[in-house]
Amino acid sequence: MRVLLVPPTFRYAREYPAFLSFSDFPSAFGYLASSLKQAGHEVYGCNPNNIVGYANAYSMLQSVLSQKIGVLKPDLIGLGGLCIDYRFLKDAIGIIRQIDAKVPIVLGGQIVTNDAEFIFNDLKPDYVIVGEGEQAMVELATRPHENGTLAIRTIIGKGLPIDSLPFPDYSPFGIDEMLDEYSMATRVLYRYSRPDPRPFNIVASRGCPYACTFCIDHHRSYRARSIENIMEEIKVSYERYKFNILILLDELFAVSRNRLNDFSQAVLQGKEQHGWDFDWCFQTHARARFDLESLKLARQAGCYMFSYGLESASPTVLKSMDKKIEIEQVTEVIKMVEEAGIAFSANLIFGDVAETQDTISESLSFWFKYGQRCCIFLAEVKPYPGSALFNECLKRGLIADKKQYYETIDTVPINMTAMDDRTYAAMMSLLAQLEQGWLFPQKAMDVHYEVESNHRGKYQTYVGGDYYTVMAKCPYCGEVSPYRQLMPGVPFMLGLSCLKCQRKIKVEVS
Ligand code: SF4
Repeated sequence: MRVLLVPPTFRYAREYPAFLSFSDFPSAFGYLASSLKQAGHEVYGCNPNNIVGYANAYSMLQSVLSQKIGVLKPDLIGLGGLCIDYRFLKDAIGIIRQIDAKVPIVLGGQIVTNDAEFIFNDLKPDYVIVGEGEQAMVELATRPHENGTLAIRTIIGKGLPIDSLPFPDYSPFGIDEMLDEYSMATRVLYRYSRPDPRPFNIVASRGCPYACTFCIDHHRSYRARSIENIMEEIKVSYERYKFNILILLDELFAVSRNRLNDFSQAVLQGKEQHGWDFDWCFQTHARARFDLESLKLARQAGCYMFSYGLESASPTVLKSMDKKIEIEQVTEVIKMVEEAGIAFSANLIFGDVAETQDTISESLSFWFKYGQRCCIFLAEVKPYPGSALFNECLKRGLIADKKQYYETIDTVPINMTAMDDRTYAAMMSLLAQLEQGWLFPQKAMDVHYEVESNHRGKYQTYVGGDYYTVMAKCPYCGEVSPYRQLMPGVPFMLGLSCLKCQRKIKVEVS
């Protein structure tokens, strides 16, 4: 069967064009492609990203889908995404129906897993896959189901042992171009570790045993890949793509210091045997309880940053969120990362049902103390479908019209707290100002820069500006390091972490 897979357009409903680095490419499509190929199917990709020259994202999508479907004439089209991809998925399904009303469409991803019946009835794909998609997609491609009611059009994706899956195959989606041309579009957290970043993603585990109230990813039991299997994928991918930053995407990469130690040892061995030259970062839960020794070993193996899902520094809110962490676990590890030379990153998300001005004050006090040196970001909690908060909002009538909610997702604030709306809005506005302002990190010293005279590819062509290499001295450790960025001109400010001690600094260039 000829299967066409279509990943979502990055920031489809918000910004056109928005450029996609491979660091934000959904790994699920790579896994679907490799599983389908292994089962003998022809797999094609239509990646509607990094395509410029259209009036808006809809026109671009219409054009690229028409071209691909016209040329490839697929037997099945696979779409998928998160709840924030609703507008993309709705438009993509509508466009595909206009081009070819008969080609079956299968829809998967968290948007389906968390709200299958509504999404099936609303977006009207031919099939939906609930859960992990590899086996279900192969089954569908091999034995197409008859059209019918939701019950027979819903395929429950089973969570297979991850080691048994073929490594993800990103070749149908233009991975080379994403890496070669758009790596500088990556997020701040991955941008400065190397002057010329090439971030690559890997998934070392799936699922999570916790059930935080805002989370949409807690439905699956935790399953980790073996270290050998992960190393084999790193080896194959490094030889092929020569990445220099490895992002471990899973929410819970290391459940214990032993897992981190095993991974670090294996990376050190790989660096020695194969000459790997990359930095890496990961995220995990505070209960992993690292010690200084394990963090120093990780640093030696190239780890430059890790993050905890912190979310709040108020014990009241942490309890309400069912986070199952103690704030002391976080402060302890912050002291250790400073000594180990690793950056610590976390989010503080505000607006939980238990949030008050007092709890905001507690979290901000923590942020003022630790956020000057660590990458702790401030944001608003969102009640996404699949979370306990979403159900709470439905129950309280804060989300009255589900379809309207999906249509305007992330654009309309929802006050779930007991604060009045005016106070809530003022608090969120204050947090946004603090987040964007970089008012408190220390300034780098002896800043000077050079402008690159050579033009460097498509991203620069489309965005404009010049590449600046900025030399700056860390106010903490005194190290002078180069940081590179595409900017329209001086003056500008870079918010980043020192390459040596990894403390957060701001580099003012004028
Ligand atoms: S937020 Fe993180 S720890 Fe909590 S349920 Fe989700 S994945 Fe698990």
